Amino acid sequence: MRKELLKYAKMSSKSGLTVGTTGNVSVRKEDSMFITPSALPYDEMELDDLLEVNVHSGEIVKGHRNPSSETSMHRYIYEKDESIGAIVHTHSTYATIFACANLPIPPVHYTIADVGREVPVAPYARYGSEKLAQYAVETIAKEKCNGILLANHGVVAVGETLADAYRRAEVIEEVAHLAYGSYNLKLVNPLTADDLDEALEGFKTYVSG
Ligand SMILES: [Zn+2]
Repeated sequence: MRKELLKYAKMSSKSGLTVGTTGNVSVRKEDSMFITPSALPYDEMELDDLLEVNVHSGEIVKGHRNPSSETSMHRYIYEKDESIGAIVHTHSTYATIFACANLPIPPVHYTIADVGREVPVAPYARYGSEKLAQYAVETIAKEKCNGILLANHGVVAVGETLADAYRRAEVIEEVAHLAYGSYNLKLVNPLTADDLDEALEGFKTYVSG
């Protein structure tokens, strides 16, 4: 599980979803979560650098580094929803443009159905704060979605597995890019709720189209 976490953390940097030491990735195992450390570039990260943190108390179970500054946000999301097993947090560029504008990403492409009807924006609060963690949890629960924007900050994608959360972080960035282009053309043409439901139904048997 730690190996998989390291693999996805490094992938997020190689693919450009995360830059420098920004963003963080975690995976849940029972009452614990494994999470990337704070202030360490992904290409220098090794298995030993990952931390194990108790989801309920926040106590560090194992690890010698400081856990990611968004550890509370990861913990609260896991505590609120037992079905969530992994979280990817990024500041990916196009999605973060929407977060900075406080504008939900509209469903201009059917792939967003895997995330939700749109990508909503959680209110702004300082990075690493308890308030930000609460806003993130509330927005995911209220919108019943697998990904949100954090106003003036970035993206949070969740899933049952690391593969799910990572794929959604990629989809959010891709659809944000397309929506950004649509706004530039002044022709934003979102899909309807029925179109999105139909696409989602199709994903159950057909992963990419
Ligand atoms: Zn961040």
